[in-house]
Parts: sequence; structure tokens; C-alpha cells
Amino acid sequence: MTTFRNVGILAHVDAGKTTVTEQMLFAAGAITSPGSVDKGTSTTDTLGVERERGISVRLATASFPWRGGCVNLVDTPGHVDFCAEVERSLRVLDGAVLVISAVEGVQAQTTTIFNALQAMAIPTLIFINKIDRLGADVSRVLAEVEQELTPHAILLQRARLQGEADAAPEMAWTAADVDTDDPQIQAIVETIAEQDDGLLARFLEGTPLTFRELDRALAAATATGHHHPTLLGVAKNGLGIAELLDAVDRYLPAAPGRDDEELSALVYRIDHHPRLGRTAGVRVFGGRITTRDSVLNHTRDRANTVSQLKKIHTGKHEDIRVLTAGDIGVVCGLAEARVGDILGCPGSVPQGNRLAAPLLTVMAVPETEADFIRLAEALHQLADEDPLLDLEFLPDQHELHVKITGWIQIEVLESLLLERYGLRATFSNPTIIYKETPSRIGHGYERYWMPKPCWAIMKLLIEPLPRGSGVHYESRLGVNDVAQKYQNEVAQTIGRALRQGIKGWEVTDLKIILVEGEDHPVHSRPGNFKIATPMAVMNGLTETDTTLLEPILEFRLAAARDLLGGITADLARRRATFGTPEVLGERFVLEGRIPAATSLDYPVQLASRSGGKAKIFTRLCGYEACTLEQGQVAAYRGISPLDRAKYILKMRGAMTGD
Ligand code: GDP
Repeated sequence: MTTFRNVGILAHVDAGKTTVTEQMLFAAGAITSPGSVDKGTSTTDTLGVERERGISVRLATASFPWRGGCVNLVDTPGHVDFCAEVERSLRVLDGAVLVISAVEGVQAQTTTIFNALQAMAIPTLIFINKIDRLGADVSRVLAEVEQELTPHAILLQRARLQGEADAAPEMAWTAADVDTDDPQIQAIVETIAEQDDGLLARFLEGTPLTFRELDRALAAATATGHHHPTLLGVAKNGLGIAELLDAVDRYLPAAPGRDDEELSALVYRIDHHPRLGRTAGVRVFGGRITTRDSVLNHTRDRANTVSQLKKIHTGKHEDIRVLTAGDIGVVCGLAEARVGDILGCPGSVPQGNRLAAPLLTVMAVPETEADFIRLAEALHQLADEDPLLDLEFLPDQHELHVKITGWIQIEVLESLLLERYGLRATFSNPTIIYKETPSRIGHGYERYWMPKPCWAIMKLLIEPLPRGSGVHYESRLGVNDVAQKYQNEVAQTIGRALRQGIKGWEVTDLKIILVEGEDHPVHSRPGNFKIATPMAVMNGLTETDTTLLEPILEFRLAAARDLLGGITADLARRRATFGTPEVLGERFVLEGRIPAATSLDYPVQLASRSGGKAKIFTRLCGYEACTLEQGQVAAYRGISPLDRAKYILKMRGAMTGD
């Protein structure tokens, strides 16, 4: 049985991720010459925007054999604003390689990625690249790694001629060298032994430890995320690449799962391919998928027949017949599948951590009005590939809104639209995505009984809940008050009714209870309660009034000590809260929370004002109440259920159109 390792190469933009990937493919014999990022011929960059900007945006995979196993490289996007996509690809990884430049060292993005990898417990190797460049300083980078990422990086190599054109890495940790008095080897032995009680006892007794047992212990501690074997290289010249692949094979764990188990797989990406149509990127955690199989989409409760199975070798789709446990492939025929769906049973699929969420909403505007419908269709397809875009199409206002996780995503969407669909569009009016929550307990009423035929009478009790609770709904009615089928309509409609509250934002952290209601044996029609529910909810929110909730980011900031005063004053002006700074030599680290609204431009400003001496890492940690002045009220998009007559007319029209 083949062993698989699904590995992600992650890095700050420009550290050399694409070059490392290309050189790995070349070293493994999967391509005949390494493509060059500088010439725009790399294999894994599939979009023009990446070539132009030299950054990887979409994820592509590449598979190749190494030392009898199969390595699937899952290419992850490089930029901070693609956190959502980074996060999704992390869910399918068995391990990762974090590439750091020997010159630029640990960047804010490096910290973001490393923290995400740690949060999702992904075993990680570190590759310090570009040791040939002027100014390369492996010791300084290691010190930064220790201060800002982890004290558990273990350097297994030495840099020869560092900073010169002929620089090359040299293996220090080898079976032949384990007995020497070399301080680097001594340090490696000690560090490994410290993590293994049996080895530690023998080490303290003075019993010599063998390379084999130490190396195995290192692999075990890497698999649990404790140690981070660290290697060096000049990816541009293919130096250190074979050693890196050996380290992937030796220290990163192989994919678990057996073929004879029940199928348990995850859809981690959706693509629209010019020839294959809609395809799903799938990772199999247990069991197997064969062409012509009928596969149950557990999330949607639908079965689909797999029409084709593919693997991506060097940028091209190749037919395969079966996708086995541990492997990643492209599945055709899963019509309804969306990113995050589970195929088969959920059993072996790891739970996803939410690390990213869209923070901004923007309006898409076509260059020429005639393109509006085509733009709507294109965005619909893109939202299918990336559900977080959450496209909102308002036919009446003639507006298209999408949600994004950061500024650079706008640029990427613009390029995507142009390249894939030949559409020119711009994105305007970026707004922070607020939420709202009831301010106090209240009731919502609706008597929808005119104009006939219709009959849906209901009373809802609305209660605020603590932050982070989400939406809870229950009915206290018997079927004699309102028939079950109508009660089901209420339950199904609550979610949609809460998409926009009286301040124009999604309503959350509340409990809604159906406390009174009445249907009518003659006049009630299917759909009546669907129309009535949003009106009752909005009526109730008017009574409870609502409080704005703003997104809050958790941050970790590292900077030179002399900047401490200026930075804390600035943070306070931005309504941040933070703890006591932790001073580490000439630098300090500060952790706290800051509203997204006051900090979207902060990483850029901080970097420019501090001359690169300060770095901040942020991550969404939740929503907190803010005042109307601090936040923003949005106009209702579409026809509000509070505008009863118009709303009823529109809803009835929509329903007869069904
Ligand atoms: P990515 O943005 O992380 O994918 O980085 P790329 O692979 O596109 O590399 C960024 C730039 O660094 C390109 O100009 C590469 O040619 C260059 N580069 C990559 N590896 C090395 C290296 O080991 N040494 C030197 N001097 N340059 C490198």
C-alpha cells in the first residue's frame, strides 16, 4: 500500500515558495526542467495574476513519488488576505514546510502562517532559503524564529559560504557524525533526548545514544508538533532540495487511514475547469473512491455518481481509477458539492478550526452596464468555489455585493474576472461587516391574513444571549395551534429572516421562541408562514431594539523596544486593549485585542512608520458591542419586511414564480 504525505509549502511572499516547489518536482523527476518564477514558466502557478505579481493565489496540487512513498504538494496561497483559503488547505495537510528567507527573516506573514499551523496542530519543518544572498544570516533568522515563532526549531545543517554565490547547505545531522564533540550535534542530541523520557534517562547516565533511535525520536516529536527540524537551501540553484524531501519523508507523518474502512472524505476546493466543468478537490481520510461509485454527500444528504477521477501531475489532469485512503484527487460528477462538504461519513475527517472570516463587504460594478448579468453569473460561479464570498444579488437595487477577507482579494477578483470571463469590473464601497443583537427581551407579532387567501398569525419571544452564542430557535406550540408543516416553515425561515436586522446587519446571539400562533383550515396556504416569519422577526427587533456588534481581532505585536511608547499610544487611540509588554532583549512582544474597524490599515502603517522594525499578527476572535458612532448602520438591501404591503406583494410574486 502506498504511503501518502500531503504537504503544504507555506511562506511569506517572495521567500521562495514557488521556486522550492518547482525544484522539488524537478528533483523527483516529475518535470524535466524546473520552471522559473522570474520567467513566468512555473508549473504550479496557474493564474496570470500570480505570474504578474509573482504570488500564488489559487491552490494547485502536484504529486510525485519520493523514496517509495507519494508526496502530494498542496500549494497554498502566500498572502495574508487569503487566510480563508490558507485555512481550508491546511485541513488536508499531514505536514508543512515553512519557507523563510535567510535575508528578510521572519515576517509578519510568517508569524500568521506559523500560528495558523500551530492552531491546527500541523507538524512543520522550517526551510531557510536564499542562504546565497548578500546579507544572509542563518543565526539571526534562527534567533528570530526562537523569539517570534518557536523555541523548538532544530537546525540539522550548516551553511557553507553563507552570503556568497557559491553558498550551499551541508548536512550536520548524519549517522556518521552523531558521536563527535561538535557543539551543534551535542545540542541536537540534548534537545531530542529532552523530549523522550527513556532517552533522557540514558543520556543523563552517560550511555551513548544511537543516531537511529535519536532520529526516530525526532520524527515522533515532529509529528506531535513539538519539534521543527530546520534545513537550509539555495532553492534557486536546487541546493538543499533533496535533503528537504528526505526530511519530509523522515520527519513528517504519513497520512493515516485504511482503504478497507468506510469512506470518509472532505471536499476542500471547487473549481470550474474549461473542459471538465465543475470539479471537486477531495482528500480521502478513510476508505476509497472509485469511478462510477455512488458517493454519499453527507453534508447535503445526496448521493452522486463519480463520473471521472483525476490527479494533478505537473499541472495536468491525469485519469485515475481509484482514490485511496490518504490521497488527494479531483472528483468529477459531484454536482451539489461545496467546499467543506463531507463525503461518506464524518468519522475520520478532522474538525475544522475557524481561523479566518470575511471582514469587509464590497459592491461589484461592471465597467459597462450591459455586462451586469454576465458579472452576476461569473460572481455566482466564484462564490461556488469560495463560499465565504457569499454573493448577494439585489435585483431591485441592481447591486452585487461580495464579502472579502482583506484588500488584496479585490485585486485578485478583478484579475480573475478579466482572465476567466473577459469581464472588467471594479469593487467599491468597502464596509466592515458588523452584526447586531437584540438589546433586551421583547415580542414580535404578525397577523398575515390579508389580502386573502392567506392566514398566518404568530407571536415570537426574542431574548438576547451572551456573545458567541449564535442563534437558537424553538417552538412552544402544539400541532393543534399551528400544523407541523407550518411550524417547519417558521423554523426553516428564521435563518433567512435574521440575515438583515433593523440596522442592516446579520442578527446573532439571540433566542427566538414561537409562543403563540394560529393557522386556518381553509385560508392558510403553504408558504404563508414563510412570508409571515420575517415580518414577525423584524417587528420584534423593532421592539427589542438592537445593539451593533463589531469584529474584534486578537493581535500579537513584536517590535524594537524604543518603539514601545509610540505604539501603545497609537493602539490606545485605536481602541485596543492589551496586557503588559513582554520584553525579550532589545525587542518586546505585546498581545491584546483591537477592533477591525480601527486596524485594517494598521499592519501597513506600522511597517512603514517603524521602518520594518515592528510586526503585527492579527486574527478574528469574535464580535463585541460598539456604539452607533463607532460602528455603522446599513440601509436594508432589498425590500424590508417592515415595508409590509410591498414586501407581501414581492414575496407572493416570488412564490407563484416557483
Ligand atoms: P514565492 O513568492 O515565495 O513563491 O517566491 P518565488 O519562488 O517566486 O521567489 C521569489 C524570488 O526569489 C524569485 O526572484 C526567485 O528567483 C528568488 N529566489 C528563490 N530562491 C532563491 C535562492 O535560493 N536564492 C536567491 N538568491 N534567490 C532566490
